[in-house]
Amino acid sequence: MRYNFRVREDKNTGEFIIDMKCLNCDYEEVIPMDIFSELFDPDFDENPAITCPKCDHDLFVPKDVYDQIKGGFIYKPDKK
Ligand SMILES: [Zn+2]
Repeated sequence: MRYNFRVREDKNTGEFIIDMKCLNCDYEEVIPMDIFSELFDPDFDENPAITCPKCDHDLFVPKDVYDQIKGGFIYKPDKK
């Protein structure tokens, strides 16, 4: 399953950023698109999830994805 999420521009820095939220602990953080791109390889991982800096689960996803998943999708993380 592929998820869509928005990337927005930080008006102060001109940097492209993503609002992230953890599916496990609800921790929220804004991260630069560059960092996300480094951690998430769409050719390798189907779900845009990276490791949560707070609870250490691989369930840290863009907020748009969080809403889609919490809105009723069944989410099965790929443990590799
Ligand atoms: Zn977490």
